Order: sequence, then structure tokens, then C-alpha cells
Amino acid sequence: MSESARARRRWLGPLGWMTGVASVVLGAAGVGAVLCLWYPALLTTPALREVYDMRLIRGVIKAGLVAAFVLGAASLLLKRRKALGLTGIGLAALATLMGGSAVEVATPVRRSDYLGLDWFLINLLILATVFVPLESVFARLPAQRVFRRGWTTDLAHFAVSHLMVQASVLLTLAPAAVFFRWAVSPAIQNAVAAQPIALQFVEILLIADLTQYGMHRLFHRVPWLWRFHQVHHSSRDMDWLAASRLHLVDIAVTRAVGFVPVYVLGFAPGPTYAYLVFVSFQAILIHANVSFAFGPLRWLLATPQFHHWHHAAESEAVDKNFAVHLPVIDWVFGTFYLPGRRWPARYGLEGDPVPEGYGRQLVYPLLRGAGPFLRRR
Ligand SMILES: [Zn+2]
Ligand SMILES: [Zn+2]
Repeated sequence: MSESARARRRWLGPLGWMTGVASVVLGAAGVGAVLCLWYPALLTTPALREVYDMRLIRGVIKAGLVAAFVLGAASLLLKRRKALGLTGIGLAALATLMGGSAVEVATPVRRSDYLGLDWFLINLLILATVFVPLESVFARLPAQRVFRRGWTTDLAHFAVSHLMVQASVLLTLAPAAVFFRWAVSPAIQNAVAAQPIALQFVEILLIADLTQYGMHRLFHRVPWLWRFHQVHHSSRDMDWLAASRLHLVDIAVTRAVGFVPVYVLGFAPGPTYAYLVFVSFQAILIHANVSFAFGPLRWLLATPQFHHWHHAAESEAVDKNFAVHLPVIDWVFGTFYLPGRRWPARYGLEGDPVPEGYGRQLVYPLLRGAGPFLRRR
């Protein structure tokens, strides 16, 4: 093989792979989106249906399917192995045969229990579009691949927590309303909601992170809670998708308790929603495989380096950096750890006690015979 042919293959191969993966992702998302048009009552989120611009949605579905076909064809041309390109084109063809973007939606959509398939697809596409390029350009570990070990487990965690949005909203809001109604004082709530919006946002950030800090330490300290939280610490590779690796009990308890002070104090909806957007983005960012140092800002806000140390296998970092937003909370309680510009050498738990696979991780904390009862040292 000539030098130029070899050089061409060096970049054509990865390009064929990338176009193939993009084609499969868009083709699968297209099938999901068309299913949402077919069964809106079962597969879409009522709160989102209210804000959808259907012309825009149909345009996005159409563009996605065309892109899946084009990228699939490009992959077939560029790559010697054709499985990815054929799968992407096959999925896009299936979505098109199911009616594509033109499927009529019968309105009004009846009320029913639902899976947030639209919520899952929108989040996955937005987050992948933001974080996959970010992690490839600013990689903290450049050799780590997008589809690193354990990615299917993490994608399953991501899928379940988004599909079950109805249950998770209920589990977050209901306990506070049921058990803490007695603590609500209209006078206090009116005063809290009358404050400037920016101030309310900062207060929510501080109060939510203090509660979260306490719960997080409890999950590390109490043995039977630690079994649930071990799932989150079982990631051996850190990236944006690893943020989703959380046991349902861990999510439900932490969110429900975290919502109690926000509910009792009665913050206005605006800053509360702003906080929800902020927390969902920051919780993902701090797991990402990015090397941003954030300069002096890293003393104020939790950064990837700060939370990566929480996941470190190194013994000096065990039970450190519990905060999600404000490192100062760890500093006050003596659990702060940020050694200069250094990053952990390894992530995960001693002996890797947690199995891979969504189902196995779901039952892991409940199994008595699941191996030694490991705590962090
Ligand atoms: Zn933890
Ligand atoms: Zn984490």
C-alpha cells in the first residue's frame, strides 16, 4: 500500500465510523420520534406537549431522517465494514415507512400514564451534541473513547430515569407536600417569594446543596444506604454519561429530601425552574471528561476536577467533596480536597464489587449474597 493510500485510510476509517454512529443515533431517534407521534398519550410528556411547536418538531424529525440516510450512505462509502451504515439507513427507512414526520396526531391527546420518550430523546440529543464534541476537543483523558466500558449500562440508567419522568416528578414533590404541609407558613412563603429573583436563586442553590451534602454524606456513612450509592461510584471511566449511573433509590431519596426546604420556604417558580436547569447541567458537567480548570471560579463552584476527586480510587480522596454546587460547604465541614492541578489516577471502588448491567445494578443493593459488605475505607 502506498504512503498516501495508508494516510487516506487513517482518516477515512474514523470518519466512516463517526458518520455510521451518527446515522444509527439519528435513525433510532427518528423511530422513537415517529412512535411519539403515533402514541402521544403513552409516550410524550404533557408539560412538553403544551410548548411544542409542531411545525418545528416535524421539521426536526424530517431533517434528522434525511441526515441519517446521508450519513449512513457516507459511512457505507468510507468504511470497509458496513454494519453501522446499513443499521442507520435501515432505522431511517423504518421511521419513514411508519409515516415519518407526516404522521397525524389525533387531538386532543387523552390523559393517561405515560413514558417520557420525548423527554429522553430531546435530552439525549442535546446533551450528546454539547458534550461529545466538548469531551473530544478538551479531553482530560484523550485516549478515552465515547463508547468506553460500561456505556450501555449508563445509557440504560439515562433512559430509565428520563422515561420515568412522571414517577420521578411525583416522588420528588409528593413526600414534601404530604409530610411537611404543617411546616408551611404563608407569611414566610410570601416574604421568600417577594425577594429579588437572583437572590432566591442563590438561596435555593445554597439550601439545596446543604441538604444534598447532608444526604450524600449519609449515603456514604450508613451501610445499607452506601450499598445503593455504590452504584454511582462503580464508574471506572468518567464522562457526561457516567453522571446518570445512579440507583433509583439514591435519586428518589436525595431529590425528595432536597425538595423539602424549597417547598416549605415557598420560592417563586421562576428561580426554582432556573435552579432545576442549572443543577441538571452542572451535575452532568462535573462528571465530564473535560480538562477545564475554571481558574479561581473552581473555589466557588464545583468543577469536573472537584467531583472527579469524589470518584477517585485513591485513598486520600475517600469521603471527600460531597457538594454538587458549592465547594465551600466541603471546606466548612472539613471534607474539601483539591490538590492543585492534579487529577485522580483511577476511579471506582476497591475490588469492583458492583456488577455491570442496569438490571443487576438495580438489585445489587438488595442482594445479601452480593459479595463482601464493602464500605469506603
Ligand atoms: Zn458519593
Ligand atoms: Zn458523581
